[in-house]
Amino acid sequence: MIELTAKQVSDALARGEFSSRELFEAYRERAAGDELNAFVWLAEEAPADEGVPLAVKDLFCTEGVPSQAGSKILEGYRPPYTATVVENIGAPLLGKTNQDEFAMGSSNENSAFGPVLNPWDRERVPGGSSGGSAAAVAAGLAPWAIGTDTGGSIRQPAALCGIDGLKPTYGACSRYGMIAFASSLDQAGPFTRDVTDAALLLGRMVGRDPCDSTSLEFPEPIGLPQREDLDGVRFGVPSELSGEGIEPGVLAAFRETLALAQKLGATVEECSLPHAPHALSAYYVLAPAEASSNLSRFDGVRYGLRSDGEAGLVEMYTRTRHDGFGPEVKRRILIGTYALSSGYYEAYYGRAQQVRTKIAEDFRTVFERFDFIATPTAPTVAFRLGDKVGDPLAMYLNDYCTVPMSLAGIPAISIPNGLSEGLPVGFQLAGPAFSENRILDAAYALEQAIGFDGSDARR
Ligand code: GLN
Repeated sequence: MIELTAKQVSDALARGEFSSRELFEAYRERAAGDELNAFVWLAEEAPADEGVPLAVKDLFCTEGVPSQAGSKILEGYRPPYTATVVENIGAPLLGKTNQDEFAMGSSNENSAFGPVLNPWDRERVPGGSSGGSAAAVAAGLAPWAIGTDTGGSIRQPAALCGIDGLKPTYGACSRYGMIAFASSLDQAGPFTRDVTDAALLLGRMVGRDPCDSTSLEFPEPIGLPQREDLDGVRFGVPSELSGEGIEPGVLAAFRETLALAQKLGATVEECSLPHAPHALSAYYVLAPAEASSNLSRFDGVRYGLRSDGEAGLVEMYTRTRHDGFGPEVKRRILIGTYALSSGYYEAYYGRAQQVRTKIAEDFRTVFERFDFIATPTAPTVAFRLGDKVGDPLAMYLNDYCTVPMSLAGIPAISIPNGLSEGLPVGFQLAGPAFSENRILDAAYALEQAIGFDGSDARR
């Protein structure tokens, strides 16, 4: 059972080869033996729901089940409702997965529950912030999982763990019930072993939700990818995101995949996203600004942790936030509050919004000539635990290739495209808003040609 993809396992369920309960128990047993720290909560018994069990990032509210977004400040919080996408998928809930606190991070080392280990090499990080979901799927502790991506938190951990991760068009999936980080960027998406599973899971997630006014009806059904060639498909390779700063092994795998795409009939040409190099700077103003506002609700009054304040209410707020938030979250609240403060708002937040618009325009221009943008997903393979914790700027560079798509609100997938130094590398494919079906088709064709084998991580 464990070696089957979610699609295969659901076909086997339909044929009656085993029951949903047997399947659940097989995965529950594996997940209970989890040595990667991928799960922060595990179901005790199979729920009544039929189907393929799902692992869910901690920050999705799940009724009656701990939902802490990897933070100490939400200790003991059990939401009275379930996030819309979890509801929409309707799968048996296997467990909640570890993550960077409030989805802030690229290595899962910012979690109040401790780091997650990469199943390919336990001395290395799985990526972040959805590191638990990525590691669980890669290690075969769950058939599939969901996570969220604000600047790369689905695509980068998928790349570092050798699986598929898709960030949908902004608004394709409801954010209702997702504990918010940066509301104009946060999107839920699937983690799967192959592209077919990604299509299957995404198809169950999308849709307009009256509880999220930024959600939209997906204009067409998400189909299962079929395409085996790339005849006439135009790939643009932005020079700004495929050269300097990318590790040689990652670049070599990237070029090999581009050559494969050409063999399948695609054209590959260099292009330019002139403002992309400014994306990270804009992101690290905008995301903290939104976070500083979103996280103001955690004050010890309504949810989770409350530290004693003998000297009164303000003292209680202060102590709760002092004790409950980790250092990265505090850093972001400080940066965000500063960027939004009177006198600085125009210089920082306003300026970053202008850069964001420029980046979205760059993509629009490029998509007049190309169907897709291709880049490496992350500049390096999985790095060692502890290597970047002391250097926030080096950590932020992980998202160099993924943040531009987030700022533009467009969809992008990461698929595994080989190994470098024995560790997985990811290939990113991005397209215009709501081009998910076409991205999945192209990714499927590439996947067949690449023939990546992830079974080593499941041993
Ligand atoms: N690594 C980025 C950050 O720390 C992106 C995180 C995310 O996508 N949630 O903000």
